[in-house]
Amino acid sequence: MKIIFASVTGLSLLFCDALAAQTARLSATPTRPEPGAIVRLTLDAPSSRDSIVSVHGALAGEPLHFLRSGAAWHAIGGVPVDSAGSLLANAVVQHASGKTEIARVRFSLPKLPPPVAQPLAVDSTFTRPLDAATLARIDRENARAREIGRLAHNRPAMWTSPFLTPRTSVITSEFGSGRVFNGRLTTRHLGVDFRGAVGEPVRAANRGVVVLVDNFFLAGNVVYIDHGGGVVTAYFHLSKPLVAIGDTVKRAQVIGLVGNTGRVTGPHLHWAARYGSITVNPLDLVTLRPAWYGASATARQAHVSRTSAARQ
Ligand SMILES: [Zn+2]
Repeated sequence: MKIIFASVTGLSLLFCDALAAQTARLSATPTRPEPGAIVRLTLDAPSSRDSIVSVHGALAGEPLHFLRSGAAWHAIGGVPVDSAGSLLANAVVQHASGKTEIARVRFSLPKLPPPVAQPLAVDSTFTRPLDAATLARIDRENARAREIGRLAHNRPAMWTSPFLTPRTSVITSEFGSGRVFNGRLTTRHLGVDFRGAVGEPVRAANRGVVVLVDNFFLAGNVVYIDHGGGVVTAYFHLSKPLVAIGDTVKRAQVIGLVGNTGRVTGPHLHWAARYGSITVNPLDLVTLRPAWYGASATARQAHVSRTSAARQ
């Protein structure tokens, strides 16, 4: 009896192994991400003789950059702040034999309560109806920021250490909280505010290339850093930027000083982040574990050759 039982178990294990060898499985964490969250995707691809030569994918219209970590592949993606219902991520797995497999994961988005309003009193310059020229300027500046996010997909990830917060001071406004300007609810807050006095240091959240230093109507003096792999971080309301476009900055390098330029109630740092053109909660970058950024040298090299081949 014992013998039969053992062989049945053995058979079912074999059967499971055979199935697993053919099926790459995609999963996402968190399973119910809030709008603006960074989702961590894992593709489990059991080893087989037909090795995997590349994995690419998409979520919410943005490409995913999978990096190999042992038997699994990892990528991050962004949930748009205005998305509702559910989202679908996919991974296209290319095998050495030429066989292509597609793995998908769907996750549902929680219904969020309306934002809790935080009353703010700002200079009335910012609450008076804006003239057409100013509205056009804001549109242009938003379009530039989105384009910078899109271009970050072309650069291989430049970081191999965790993201840091740009200041260690108290957070005075979280991502997603409601904004009331002089009694009127306008938009959700699409960044994280850190306390700071004019002249205090602002540090680069990670290694990257400075792609924008400018003065924007709402954000004041801004610095945008392209970290590659689709990730951009931005630092608003600076009194003084200390970097120039094209500079490669180190993680934790001082890139500017806290200020009160743009639409502000007082000096502070507003920290923002994008995955491609999607605005995401920058604090979700800080909690990423090494599997999501610790690309091996070969994975980086493969990405570089694919990117340069695509450009030719
Ligand atoms: Zn802010």
